[in-house]
Amino acid sequence: MDFLKRTWAEIHLERLGINIANYCACLQGETKLLCVVKASCYGHADLAICPYLEKELGVKWFAVSNADEALRLRNMGISGEILILGYTPAEAVAELAEHNIIQTITDLSYARELNDCLSGSGKPLRCHAAVDTGMTRIGLRGTPEEIARSLYEIYDLDDLILDGIFTHYAAADSAAAEDKEYTAAQTEKFFAVRDEAERLGVRLSQCHCLNSAAGVYTPDSRSTLGRLGIILYGLYPDPATPLPFEPEPVMELRSTVSQVKLIQPGESVSYGRTFTAQRPTLLATVTCGYADGWPRALSNKGEVLIHGKRAKIVGRVCMDQFMIDVTDIPETAPRDIVTLIGHDGDECITADDVAALAGTIGYEITCGISARVPRVAYKNGEQMGVYRL
Ligand SMILES: *Cc1c(COP(=O)(O)O)cnc(C)c1O
Repeated sequence: MDFLKRTWAEIHLERLGINIANYCACLQGETKLLCVVKASCYGHADLAICPYLEKELGVKWFAVSNADEALRLRNMGISGEILILGYTPAEAVAELAEHNIIQTITDLSYARELNDCLSGSGKPLRCHAAVDTGMTRIGLRGTPEEIARSLYEIYDLDDLILDGIFTHYAAADSAAAEDKEYTAAQTEKFFAVRDEAERLGVRLSQCHCLNSAAGVYTPDSRSTLGRLGIILYGLYPDPATPLPFEPEPVMELRSTVSQVKLIQPGESVSYGRTFTAQRPTLLATVTCGYADGWPRALSNKGEVLIHGKRAKIVGRVCMDQFMIDVTDIPETAPRDIVTLIGHDGDECITADDVAALAGTIGYEITCGISARVPRVAYKNGEQMGVYRL
């Protein structure tokens, strides 16, 4: 299997198992693993990763953002449980029921709308109700008693099967005292809702609240699932908050040198002439740009690795190319491999490092690596396949 050696993302599958083992070691009691694989596995390519998670690592639960992503998983042969974490228009849910996909319920009126749409179809839809305990995004709102009564109403609808409830934390990744208190209050409200619903006779097979951060920092044996997202891919929920283990970044991003030249003091580089050489400068052009998902915010800021050394980005990042200063790396030549994210010799740049410079989070960096960048899967260094988003 070959691919164009211009810009490509390496996906190192064996690191998924390491990240899973580290996360699961933090979980308590009977909490089971759910892998969050939305947005094509945070940009890592669902086709490369999901079959590996299910067949090689025995993962039983998956979560995606929407119906298209869920059906894609079924089409690639995933037979485990699939939970859609977001909204699906009512007319699309009959197909979800046919494929035994679990839909999130955002509120009571949405539950009634789905039920009406399904009535008489003969295929009930499994669902988990979102409980808004403080994220203020989706979910049932009110006192635990009010929410429990809504859950009872949903439970009672003929064409919905209420299998579970879940909540999502707003600040579980933070070490600040007020955020820890907020997370604890969200947890207590969630389980108060569960207790109240059970008192009303609502039987729930799944009640889950943990994301990556909460599974590590505030594990709770009452959560039946731990929804592992960012740590699965080897990034930090918040790089400012340490983890009790080293996450192993699954993606490495590489590109190539197209041209090397010596420029003279006073010569400017790239659009807008934002960089002017102060000394004779050896300049290399790299075949990657913002259309590949490499942030333009890294103009005159970011660094890359080449020949095991760091080289600065000079001038503006263009759509398909950018320039680096390799004056101190004179062996640089066309066709050389450039590491934008990952290891080269003793040096390493993570997506979290890139994010910090670009003023965003690691999640946005990997999700943003665009569809034109092939994802090349490796297992223990051996190339397994080339995938497109
Ligand atoms: C995305 C998402 C997760 C995963 O969050 P991470 O911070 O990546 O672990 C878990 N639960 C819900 C509801 C989500 O939307």
